Amino acid sequence: MKAGVETAHELGLKIAIHSYGFSGARDAVLAGADSLEHGPILDDATIREMVKRGTFYDPTVDHNRNPFGRPVVVGDPIWTFGDNTFKTVQRAIKAGVKFVMGVDGAADQFVSTEIPYTRNATRELIWYVKAGMTPTQALAAATINPAALLGKEKELGKVEPGFFADIVAVEGDPLKDVDVTVTKVRWVMKAGKVMVDQTKESK
Ligand SMILES: [Zn+2]
Repeated sequence: MKAGVETAHELGLKIAIHSYGFSGARDAVLAGADSLEHGPILDDATIREMVKRGTFYDPTVDHNRNPFGRPVVVGDPIWTFGDNTFKTVQRAIKAGVKFVMGVDGAADQFVSTEIPYTRNATRELIWYVKAGMTPTQALAAATINPAALLGKEKELGKVEPGFFADIVAVEGDPLKDVDVTVTKVRWVMKAGKVMVDQTKESK
């Protein structure tokens, strides 16, 4: 992992390390990864290290709780896995770890190929708020934090002159109720081009 991190950084690149196991996630942080993907179980020492190093945490709560199309009962390994993730996220939020919102690709695709890729993206924000973030913190995890992680803080993550015009308009106030970012999206602009416009249909 260290060799991978050093090589990436020598080349001026960022490196994410994808890890489900406890020791793998710990080692990824200690190796100096820019971001940790998944990491459902982290001990306090690893969480402290992430705060100190500024490691971004992409816990994929929704993905890790995904039942893969079957009923999930308490005690089922997939339930325990998701529950561990949620509890780790609660501790990491309290400790002040920097979060980014990620989806791990096609969790929903296991359920049905009819479901659009990465639909679980937005549900992630609801989990973050349930785990203890303010809606503002959750939105930062989907905007300015990933822009910083990618080294693109001058181009992405804000609505400002000189930035990519990637904008989502929702009905309601996402700073009061983050659910509207999932349930009430009315308008989407991608790089200055309107991709979705439901403003006329909604009241
Ligand atoms: Zn993954």
